[in-house]
Amino acid sequence: MKIGLFGGTFHPIHFGHINLAIQLAEKEGLDEVWWIPTSGSPLRNPPADVSAKHRFQMVELALSGIEQFKVIDPEINKAPPVYTIDTVKQLLEKEPDHDFSLMLSERTIGDFLAWKEVDILVDLVNLLIGCKEGYLAPKFPPKIAAAVEAGRRVTPLFDLSATQVRDRLKKKLYCGHLVPAKVLDYISINQLYFSV
Ligand code: ATP
Repeated sequence: MKIGLFGGTFHPIHFGHINLAIQLAEKEGLDEVWWIPTSGSPLRNPPADVSAKHRFQMVELALSGIEQFKVIDPEINKAPPVYTIDTVKQLLEKEPDHDFSLMLSERTIGDFLAWKEVDILVDLVNLLIGCKEGYLAPKFPPKIAAAVEAGRRVTPLFDLSATQVRDRLKKKLYCGHLVPAKVLDYISINQLYFSV
């Protein structure tokens, strides 16, 4: 099976994430997309204010009804920082016959050289990078540059980040155009973000 792996903090999940995953899955004919909320990425401060469990639940709620999308938990119970290479090795051990592609957007690729064992990572998985028309990738060593070039896909991206969503939630501004209603209900019931 062709599986897309989509990792993130999802703090919280928003339509920018869902749009990217749908676009790339359809373009590539992926059988499934496995969403992997993380307890904490090495390249950002851990979101101590909203637990991995809450963020995982919100991803589940947002994706319910999208048959192809699954949420998996290899990263939420690990102490942060969690590294993508370790998760990929773990998944390949369990499912050696799947063809895995790591889904990213151009917003993340700038940090790529700082990822743990990135030169091994590109041997283990394909990359699928949603980029706007005319996107110029940073200069990478030849092997990484070749993997990035092969993975680049021109994709409409929503101009939206979880940071913007958190700012709006904090100010109690309307967010129904940015985040699925079920997720907003969950945020409200659990009183998340309002005092961040
Ligand atoms: P924050 O604003 O807190 O940094 P974020 O919105 O970038 O968060 P992450 O959970 O850090 O969300 O991102 C997970 C993945 O989704 C990353 O690969 C990131 O590049 C991608 N992504 C985030 N926002 C968008 C967007 N609007 N369009 C496409 N991809 C996105």
